[in-house]
Amino acid sequence: MIEELYKAAEQEAPNEMCGLIIEQNGIEKFIKCKNLEDDKKNGFKIDPKLFVQYQLNSKIKYVVHSHYEEDSTPSKHDKNACKALGIPYMIVSYPEKGVTVYDPS
Ligand SMILES: [Zn+2]
Repeated sequence: MIEELYKAAEQEAPNEMCGLIIEQNGIEKFIKCKNLEDDKKNGFKIDPKLFVQYQLNSKIKYVVHSHYEEDSTPSKHDKNACKALGIPYMIVSYPEKGVTVYDPS
């Protein structure tokens, strides 16, 4: 699945890519979402309606986004947003191809 994430990051570069990794009937899949943030190079925003829909119909395992020409270390903002949400963040860096999982629990 990780290659799929890098591919998605590549497609969106230099903007941040975002999406969700969900588990449905025991199968994990990556759902790429549209980045609704105004400043797509420095942040991301997933449609809250879409988010709730996946939350109701599946288990959201990770909220995914990418960092372009930066490493995958979560920013202070990422950490705070992740804690507020209570769902782990998975950050992939592109083109460096690093991955960091930040678990708020
Ligand atoms: Zn970030």
